[in-house]
Amino acid sequence: MNQPDGLLDGIRQKILAGTLPKQNCRMTWYGPGTGGICVACDQPIVADDVEVECDLPNGGTIRLHRRCYDIWAAEWPSCEGPDLPASGA
Ligand SMILES: [Zn+2]
Repeated sequence: MNQPDGLLDGIRQKILAGTLPKQNCRMTWYGPGTGGICVACDQPIVADDVEVECDLPNGGTIRLHRRCYDIWAAEWPSCEGPDLPASGA
């Protein structure tokens, strides 16, 4: 697997910016890509890719490539946004 370094950075930036949520999916669905735009990398999810459709606890739905979903799911718990209260400083 050849994963561009920029993908991880881009996803972390979106988590920090709030474009990607910091919460677990309520439900996830895996299927073939339908040409929709991945919220994580802004690239279309083509039929050769696996599309993950993710229902969020607040009712929203996002679509990502499977590789993007895997990175996002691994990264968001360790991403701290600027809106968190400072503690101990
Ligand atoms: Zn993607």
